[in-house]
Amino acid sequence: MAETISPPGLAQLWQSALPQLAESVGHAACDTFLRSAQVLEFDGETILLGVANEFARDWLREKHLPAISSCLSELVERPVLVEMQVVEQDGNPPAPPMADTAPAKPIATGFGSVPLNPKYTFENFVVADCNRFAHAASQQVSKSPGKSYNPFFIHSKVGLGKTHLLQAIGHAVVEHNPNLQVVYISAESFVNQLIGAMRDNRTAQFRHRYRNVDVWLVDDVQFIAAIKGPASEEEFFHTFNTLYETNKQVVIASDAPPRHLQLMNDRLRSRLEMGIVADLRCPDVETRIAILDKKAQSEGLALSQEILTYIAEKIESNIRVLEGALLKVCAQISLTGEQLTLSAVEELIADYSTAAAPRSVSVRDIAEYVADQMECPLEDMLGPKRNQEIVWPRQVAVYLARELTNSSLANIGAFFGGRDHSTILHGYNKVSELLETDEEVLWLINDLKSGLQM
Ligand code: ADP
Ligand code: MG
Repeated sequence: MAETISPPGLAQLWQSALPQLAESVGHAACDTFLRSAQVLEFDGETILLGVANEFARDWLREKHLPAISSCLSELVERPVLVEMQVVEQDGNPPAPPMADTAPAKPIATGFGSVPLNPKYTFENFVVADCNRFAHAASQQVSKSPGKSYNPFFIHSKVGLGKTHLLQAIGHAVVEHNPNLQVVYISAESFVNQLIGAMRDNRTAQFRHRYRNVDVWLVDDVQFIAAIKGPASEEEFFHTFNTLYETNKQVVIASDAPPRHLQLMNDRLRSRLEMGIVADLRCPDVETRIAILDKKAQSEGLALSQEILTYIAEKIESNIRVLEGALLKVCAQISLTGEQLTLSAVEELIADYSTAAAPRSVSVRDIAEYVADQMECPLEDMLGPKRNQEIVWPRQVAVYLARELTNSSLANIGAFFGGRDHSTILHGYNKVSELLETDEEVLWLINDLKSGLQM
C-alpha cells in the first residue's frame, strides 16, 4: 500500500513544503536550515531528511520536528514520521538557495561585516528622554571603544532605534579611528556564516576573522538564544570572550534585556548582565514630531506642522512605522507636485496602526519601587520631611511619575503627601536638569525606568 515516491518527486515534495514551513518555523530559519535540506527517502511511513550539518540536525530536531512532520503529512495525505541525517557534502551538495530568497545573505562567501547604512549616524538620531541614556553611552563607547562601557547592551521593542545606534557607533569609530576593525553583523548572519563555515570546513578562518575585531557590533542577538543551537551559542560565547578579554569593544542589541534572554550558557548571560545595559523606549509625541521633522528635511521636503503632528499623534509605538507613513506622504507629494491637505493625509495613512504600548505603571507602583530601590521609607517619601535623604528620592519618584503615567501634576502632588503643583514641577525640573549634566543621575533614572517597565 505504501507507494514510494521517485527522487524527482521527493524534490518536488520538499519544494512544496517550503512555503508552509517558512510560515511555521519563520522565514529566516527556513532560509538558513531548510532550503538546503533534501528529502532522501520516503518509505510511506518515514521521511528521511538530509541536512547540511549536525548543528542544523540538532536544531531542527529540537525545535521543529512536529511542524515539519505535520506539514509533510498534509502534503502526502497520511501521517508520516521525520528523521534527519547529515548529508556528506562531497556526493550530494545541498541545493543552492532559491532565487526568491533575496536579499542575498552572506552565507560563507566571506565572513564579517555587513556595510553600514549611511543614514544611521549620530547626527540623524534625535535625542530625547526615551533614548538619552542609550545615546550617551553609545557616544561614549564610540569615543573610547573597549575602554569605558564593555560590553554595552541595548534593548528595546522593534523599530525604536537599536540598529540605528549600533551603526552610529560603527560610523563614529571609523571616523575617529580609521584603522580600527569594526564589524557590524546580525546574530542571524553570524549563525549563517558559522553554518557555512562548518559546511565548508572553514571554521578556522571564521574564528580568525571574528577574533581579530576591535569593535564588534552584534544586532538582534535574541536570534542566538531563540534557535537553541549549542554550536552557535558556544561559538558566539567564544568570540565574545576572546574579544572581551582582550579589551575589544562588544556592543549587542536585542529585543529583551540580558536576563530575559533564553541563553543556555549562564556565564554568557551573566557577562552580558555585568556590562552596561540601556533600553530604548517609545518616544513621546514631541519627540516623534522632531523625528519626522528631521526625516522630512533629509528627504528635502517641508511639511506643515499640522501634518507632522497628525502623523506623530497617530503612530505611537514604532519609529519605523512612523517613518513609513511619512514616506508615503512624501511619495504622494512628489507624485502630484502639490502640498496635501490634512484630510488627504488622513486618508492616505488611514490604515496605519495606532496601537500604543500601554502605560501600565501607576504612581503608587513608582513610589513603592523608588522607595525600595533608593532605600527611603515610603511613609517618609509621602510624608512631610524635607531632609535631603528624603527629598531626593521623592523628586526622582515625582519625575518618573510624570514621565511614565498620565497623571496630572495636581494628582501626583496629592499622592506625594498633598504637595502643590509648583513643588511637584520644581522636583520634576530639578531631575530633568540633572539628567542633562550628571551622568550618575542619568544612570539612576535609566535603571529605575527599566526596572519599572519590565
Ligand atoms: P530597531 O533596530 O530597534 O528595530 P531601527 O534602528 O531599525 O530600530 O529604527 C527604525 C527606524 O527608526 C530607522 O529608520 C531609524 O533611523 C529610525 N529611528 C529610530 N530612533 C530614531 C531617533 N531617535 N531619531 C531618528 N530616527 C530614529
Ligand atoms: Mg534592528
